[in-house]
Amino acid sequence: MTTQIYWFRNDLRLNDNPAWQEARHASTRVVPVYVHDSHLVTKTRWGFERSGAHRRHFLRKALDGLKQSLAEIGLPLIELEGPTAAALTDVAQCHGSKRIVCEDIAAPYERAHVAVVRAGGIDVQALWQSSLLHPNSLPFEIADLPGSFTTFRKRVEASACLPRVPQQLQGPPHPRSLESVAHAHLQRYFKDGHAQSYKLTRDFLQGENASSGWSRWLALGILSPQQVYDALKSSERDRGANDSTYWLWFELLWRDYFRFLHLRYGAKLYGALGLSDVPLPVHDARGFERWCEGRTGAPLVDAGMRELRATGHLSNRMRQIVASHLIYNVGGDYRAGAAWFEHHLVDYDPYSNQGNWLYIAGRGTDPRGGRRFDIAWQTQQHDPDGAYRRQWSEPHATYNHR
Ligand code: FAD
Repeated sequence: MTTQIYWFRNDLRLNDNPAWQEARHASTRVVPVYVHDSHLVTKTRWGFERSGAHRRHFLRKALDGLKQSLAEIGLPLIELEGPTAAALTDVAQCHGSKRIVCEDIAAPYERAHVAVVRAGGIDVQALWQSSLLHPNSLPFEIADLPGSFTTFRKRVEASACLPRVPQQLQGPPHPRSLESVAHAHLQRYFKDGHAQSYKLTRDFLQGENASSGWSRWLALGILSPQQVYDALKSSERDRGANDSTYWLWFELLWRDYFRFLHLRYGAKLYGALGLSDVPLPVHDARGFERWCEGRTGAPLVDAGMRELRATGHLSNRMRQIVASHLIYNVGGDYRAGAAWFEHHLVDYDPYSNQGNWLYIAGRGTDPRGGRRFDIAWQTQQHDPDGAYRRQWSEPHATYNHR
């Protein structure tokens, strides 16, 4: 009897999960595990942990649901705590297994876990699956990934490259699981017609359904990007395609682009300079602390930082505004800002977070340099009546990271 460990990572679903299917087909016994990496809750050089309360809360809900869905097919989910590589090696030995199957994550910290487990003599089969388009289906090699998103998009769109078709839902997930909630959210979003006006509302600072709200499901892999794309195409067939529905595809391509940048450049994206050779400004630690606490003195930025801290969420526009403010007005190290987002964001995704911070800092591949946002102009455009600033005018959070 062959026993394989299936290591759930950012793919917390049973449906349309090719790596999970592979493990189930290739062995007579699969042992599903999840590892709570102890390094995520120890303080980093920035003075706070990588994973904060909002993220941990959402992850807990996702794991509880996954556990229930697995229990229905007679498989208990084993949750482990500790340094990831040691925990995985122990569980494999304990079950007499020499093979671990998981999804591949092309960020350096996540790749390092796999390297350590392999060095201990265990065969880790890490399968790429988190992008919408498979890297092998692109009209170029990853080594030749275009240096601008626009060129990347145009070349993809001019090719015959399509996402794989998602598997049909095989037995719905446990009704109380987040996988179920995510599918209901997806269906409702299209049924209520929000996709048809996405391009007009996506820059709103708040408001349910102003944007799709898919990121948290995608970040933990509760939905696959193929499931989301399939629902988008089906809605276009039923209700018609327009600029807004196209723009949802456009944004999903951004998500892919940051993934492929990781495959192309790996750990270089996480160095102080990113892909640039421009020296880093001196990090203003006090300024960074004020930014984190929403005390910069710029009302729109401060409102955003309070929202982030209180909810673990921020609209895309506010993410751009506060990131630009830290980098260009405060003079903070972009890596500190990325770490603060990592700590809080419920939809934290290593590729999208690092990619967007590099992009705003002008340290990614984009030939146009960084993105500096004029705060006064942004305030006038996006919060002319002050509703957002009023909404987040007082510290709402009872939770303190220090
Ligand atoms: P929508 O606007 O409805 O977009 C649909 C989907 O497209 C999103 O769910 C997401 O998967 C993808 N998408 C949209 N915009 C982007 C983008 N700029 N980059 C990559 N993918 C995108 N997104 C994350 O998922 N996790 C992160 O950790 C993250 N960190 C960010 C940090 C900064 C500094 C900035 C500027 C952006 C970051 N984003 C991140 C991207 C974007 O802000 C969120 O994906 C978006 O706000 C999520 O809301 P939504 O699902 O309603 O998105």
